[in-house]
Amino acid sequence: MIRFLHVTKTYEDNWKALSDVTLRIGQGEFVFLTGHSGAGKSTLLKLIYMDERPNDFHGGEVMIQFKPNLVFDSKTATEKQVQELRRHIGIVFQDFKLLPDRNVFENVALALRITGTPAKQLNAKVFDALALVGISQKRLAMPYTLSGGEQQRVAIARAMVHNPYLILADEPTGNLDPENANEVFKIFKEINARGTTVLMATHNPDFYMNSPFRRLMLSHGVLLNRDVL
Ligand code: ADP
Ligand code: ADP
Repeated sequence: MIRFLHVTKTYEDNWKALSDVTLRIGQGEFVFLTGHSGAGKSTLLKLIYMDERPNDFHGGEVMIQFKPNLVFDSKTATEKQVQELRRHIGIVFQDFKLLPDRNVFENVALALRITGTPAKQLNAKVFDALALVGISQKRLAMPYTLSGGEQQRVAIARAMVHNPYLILADEPTGNLDPENANEVFKIFKEINARGTTVLMATHNPDFYMNSPFRRLMLSHGVLLNRDVL
């Protein structure tokens, strides 16, 4: 589903955020992404949703394939294709990024409204997503009235409302206390058990030390794993 071939990413200041990264993530996998702050985790995730592209010339290639006829390639993807790519990916951030002036329902519904989803279908999808994260009863609440754990669950519902093939989570429990962090981790495992591929950047050893899932380890932009192809 995800392939990186010799991917190098250098920002303007010439620092190699990622250096010759080759990896493969299969459909349906749950994969952790670890590494110190600045190791390149966010950059790796941005390359997947094509917010960044590999360097020109010897920067390698990122390929995302959801179905045989649904393929995105960093060398050729147009802006329009990038928009389509993102309709198949749900993204969750450490700081939730909810719209402060919309209630829970509207935060989750927004992407569906933008694509013109009919009301009945929109309602059903939003209710399903809210139920998945166990927050239906708070659908009319404003984000600032919610705890951090509740806000992150709303953000996960928003990421899931399009029924994506892939969830990317960038330190999703970094702002949560241990109890809420565990709750959020459980939700990601549940999402994965239902068939969605999950790639989760995290600093929390409690998650990856006691899990059967694979861990990709970055250090200073270099992928330490040798068994990834
Ligand atoms: P992590 O998510 O592991 O903390 P990042 O991918 O955010 O790592 O950053 C990797 C390196 O690239 C860091 O040195 C960071 O400062 C640098 N970097 C990230 N984004 C940018 C950017 N937009 N411009 C310049 N440097 C950046
Ligand atoms: P994290 O460790 O959570 O990835 P960072 O502090 O590395 O957070 O980055 C936060 C944001 O700032 C990201 O969008 C990243 O692209 C950007 N960024 C990080 N480092 C730099 C930099 N040196 N110059 C410009 N933007 C940067």
